[in-house]
Amino acid sequence: MKTIRLHPGKERSLLRRHPWVFASSIAKGSADSGETVRVESHDGQFLAWAAFSPASQIRLRVWSFEPTQRIDASFFTERLRTAIARRQALGLDLSACRLVHGESDGLPGCILDRYADIVVLQAGSAAIERWKPVLVGALHTLMPEVRLYERSDAALREREGLPPATGWLHGAGDTQVEIVENGLRLQVDVASGHKTGFYLDQRDARSRFAEVVRAHKLQRVLNCFSYTGGFTLAALAGGAQQVISVDSSAPALALAAQHVARNGFDAARATFLDADVNAALRRLRDEGAQFDAIVLDPPKFASNPQQVERAARAYKDINRLAFHLLPPGGWLFTFSCSGGVSADLFQKIVAGAALDAGADAQIVARTGAGLDHPLSLHFPEGEYLKGLLLRKN
Ligand code: SAH
Repeated sequence: MKTIRLHPGKERSLLRRHPWVFASSIAKGSADSGETVRVESHDGQFLAWAAFSPASQIRLRVWSFEPTQRIDASFFTERLRTAIARRQALGLDLSACRLVHGESDGLPGCILDRYADIVVLQAGSAAIERWKPVLVGALHTLMPEVRLYERSDAALREREGLPPATGWLHGAGDTQVEIVENGLRLQVDVASGHKTGFYLDQRDARSRFAEVVRAHKLQRVLNCFSYTGGFTLAALAGGAQQVISVDSSAPALALAAQHVARNGFDAARATFLDADVNAALRRLRDEGAQFDAIVLDPPKFASNPQQVERAARAYKDINRLAFHLLPPGGWLFTFSCSGGVSADLFQKIVAGAALDAGADAQIVARTGAGLDHPLSLHFPEGEYLKGLLLRKN
């Protein structure tokens, strides 16, 4: 077993059980991509078992802080079994559910999302790449009924020095399946959909949105960055009479339109706009349009700390425009999924946007990803998604 020694003082984050060690903290030692190493402090004290990633700035990802832990096939089976069992114990519907949420489930870089009978793996670290065959076997043992598809094509693979990898790992056939979320039927294509196919992390927010629309009898809804229409369906289910969905992806909008029909809603209640949200918001403002509720669920504007400032301006811009389109009493459900933008910063950005629009608003609720996206107490980076449900005064 190879040993990696840290610079003096660099043991601190591991002692706080944070699962990452950056390249600059390492004094001595090297290993192969994904190889398990013993991590020790400058004076030789055991700190953790971790996986080595030679190409990544996140040079080590911790498997365990337990000196006696063996990192072998049964370790992975156990982590997987625990992750699934916890979701079952929480009463989650496992047929549309994130089964493993990376670091927060003790499997750094590993995402497993289940859609009907397909589980999608996103291997985002050299560590998971190396143990992939073991994970595939473990999943097959725990869930023999599922097919397994790989979507390891996210940009973060490059930072790990890994090429993209997609395709069947177990089973074959149609990559399109139907899931049911909050009683609504949605098609997910695990081969061509975004991320692993769908945004499971917004399930609770979509349910909350349907409740608000229903409770306040909201009629005119603008759903920006609609993707395949998750919030559109929520609004229709809540009773909205006119829902405009805006996205720059024509295939996503086509699927959203299918979803409206598939769920039995009158097509006349839904309009789809293939457009850039910024341009659409400006045009609607210039036309004097007003909505009872607006959803802003943009893609990640900041992928790294250097992009946070620019992202802040972009968030502020769309939120300011949205405030202009709301009458007093109107609702804004606004999100950020940028890990580098904290909940506190996001709130400040939205507050600035309201000021610029000459608007005031109350925070009715704060939302985050659902229970299938647990958050490790020692890994604040895991809290990437934050939402503010606001009511304009
Ligand atoms: N709200 C969705 C998820 C949104 S994901 C849900 O509940 O499932 C972000 C979406 O924004 C993607 O569908 C992407 O196509 C779209 N998008 C990205 N940039 C855009 C832009 N400038 N204008 C319009 N849509 C954009």
